[in-house]
Amino acid sequence: MLTSLKGKSVIVTGGSKGIGRGIAQVFARHGAKLTIAARNEEDLKTTVSEIGGDTRYEVCDVADWASVQAMVGSVAKAQGGLDVMCANAGAFPQTKMIDMEPAEWDQVMAVNLKSSFLCVKASIPYFEKAGKGRVVLTSSITGPVTGYPGWTHYGASKSGQLGFLKTAAMELARYNTTINAVMPGNIYTEGLQDLGEDYLKTMANSIPLKRLGDVEDIGNAALFFASDEASYITGQQIIVDGGQILPESLEALEEI
Ligand code: NAP
Repeated sequence: MLTSLKGKSVIVTGGSKGIGRGIAQVFARHGAKLTIAARNEEDLKTTVSEIGGDTRYEVCDVADWASVQAMVGSVAKAQGGLDVMCANAGAFPQTKMIDMEPAEWDQVMAVNLKSSFLCVKASIPYFEKAGKGRVVLTSSITGPVTGYPGWTHYGASKSGQLGFLKTAAMELARYNTTINAVMPGNIYTEGLQDLGEDYLKTMANSIPLKRLGDVEDIGNAALFFASDEASYITGQQIIVDGGQILPESLEALEEI
């Protein structure tokens, strides 16, 4: 049993859908004061009413500094400070390099990687004021561990988050703040559903536990990093993938 997060002020970016919504649900169940942030206000409203409890929303584009800074400031005012920043929002358009416009590369880098820096930077003054803080990034197995055609930009952005994490952990230590990353495998979300039924089926079959992950599987890992019990863990990452990266060959999977 982890020490309660009751009353802790938490932000989950990309909290209107998918993994972010799962993270938000887990934190809400543990009594956190919660803000979910994303661009589409209707989706945010729907998710806030589904989650209930002490949950609010902010419209925010995580790729835009002014928007992130305003969002974090507004949350700190409304929730009496900031304890946990879950920088989760991300996008994964699938385009092979031969067809990829340089602008798409830049956009994916901005939404997935630059956003990590912006969310952490905007949170620092509040962590400094509180004398403590927690950051949890949502990275991926794609990039740091595996590859998939169409995701050169995505993989680079997700690996980039882990590079960012190491030095960020050192810089945040002076504010008694930890930063860690969850690396999901294939998790059943709206974004993943957009990739089609064939993709979902093939993926489930290539996972030793024979199912896609649930969004709350990622929420539980994020909750641990945010807990008091994880106070001496920083600059680290955990893979949550049902064993997806383990098989050495297709035959190895058939042996299960
Ligand atoms: P999703 O279902 O598509 O949800 C993405 C969320 O991010 C939505 O709330 C979306 O809301 C928000 N978002 C996207 N661009 C944004 C922006 N510029 N500013 C603010 N919010 C933005 O995606 P998901 O599958 O849950 O993925 C969430 C995170 O997990 C991403 O970082 C992704 O790389 C990572 N991940 C997912 C999987 C998986 O299997 N699903 C695996 C590994 C890693 P709006 O569109 O309204 O802004």
